[in-house]
Amino acid sequence: MRSILPKVELHCHLLGVVNPPLLREIRQCGGSILLEPSTLDSAYPIRDLGSFKRWVEVLSPYQSATPDAMRPILAAHISDLIAQHVVYSEIMISPTMFPRELRPLLQAFHCWREWAYELERGQVQIEFIMVVPRTLDPDVLRRDTETFVELYREGLIVGVALVGPENGESIQRFASSFARWREAGLGIEIHAGEHSGPESIREALRYGMPDRLGHSLSAFQDPVLLDELRHTNVHIEFCLTSNLRTGAVKQIGEHPARRARELGMNFSLSTDNPGAFECSMTSEFHLAMEALGFGPDDFKTIFQNALASRFERKLRHDPSSRALGNEEP
Ligand SMILES: [Zn+2]
Repeated sequence: MRSILPKVELHCHLLGVVNPPLLREIRQCGGSILLEPSTLDSAYPIRDLGSFKRWVEVLSPYQSATPDAMRPILAAHISDLIAQHVVYSEIMISPTMFPRELRPLLQAFHCWREWAYELERGQVQIEFIMVVPRTLDPDVLRRDTETFVELYREGLIVGVALVGPENGESIQRFASSFARWREAGLGIEIHAGEHSGPESIREALRYGMPDRLGHSLSAFQDPVLLDELRHTNVHIEFCLTSNLRTGAVKQIGEHPARRARELGMNFSLSTDNPGAFECSMTSEFHLAMEALGFGPDDFKTIFQNALASRFERKLRHDPSSRALGNEEP
C-alpha cells in the first residue's frame, strides 16, 4: 500500500546505487561495466561499518568513473525511482566524474543534465548535489569552491554535501567555503552525528550552517542540541536501513526517527546507498510503518517536510516537463 505513496528522496549517493544485479543487467544490455559483478558479490552482506568500508573499497573502479560509465546506472536508478512513485530526488554525485577545467566541466555537466531530463520522462524531478569529502585537500577545496558556484549558477547543481567518515578532524577549514556557497545560494547538507557524538553536529552547525543534516543520530543524546535543532528547524535526513547495516543504530526500535516524530521535528526518510544496503524507498517506508509505527499522516508530513527542505535550483531550463506539480500523498 505504501508503495503507491508519492515520495521525496533527499539523501542518496549515485555510487551507492550500484549492486551486482544492476551490473549484470547493464552487461546483458550490451553496456560496459567497470567491475565484475562477482567481485562486488564478495562485499556482501554488509553488517557493520567495517564491511561497508570494504564495499566502498571494492567499488573503487567506479570512484573515478566518467559520466558515460555512470549513465546506465543513473538510467536504472531513475527508472527505479519512478516505479516507486518518487516524484522528486536529489542525488549526490562526485566532482571526480567530470573534467577539472571549468569549460570542459560545464560542457560535460550540461550533457549529463540533458540526459537526466530525458530520463525523468515528466514523472520525477532529479537534481544533483556535489559531494565534498571530509578528507578533501585544501588546495582542491579552494578550486572547487568557485567551481561549484559556477555549476549552481548554470542550474546544474542545487547544493553541496559534506560526506565521509567523521574522523574527529575539525571541519573549520571548510568554513569559508560554506560561507561562500551559502552567500551564492547553494543548499548545504552535512553528514554528521552518524558514528560520532553530538559535538560533530555542533561543529557542523557552527562552521557549515547547513540547511540539512544527514543522519544526525547523536543529536538525540543531547537535549540542548536537540532543542536547538527543533528551534532552528534544520531538516534531518534519516536512513533507517543504512544506520542498521553500518551499526550506527543497533536495533530499529531504537532509531531516533520515532522520537523525532513524537517531537514534531522536520525530517525525511532516504536510502543513502540502496545498492549497498539492499533497500529501496518503498522498503524504507515499510520499515518505518512496521517497526516504528508510522502511519499515513506521518508519511504525509514527511513528504511535505522533504519538499519544503529541497534545495532550490538557480535556473529552470525546462519548467514544462517537471513532474513536481500538485502531488499530495
Ligand atoms: Zn550518505
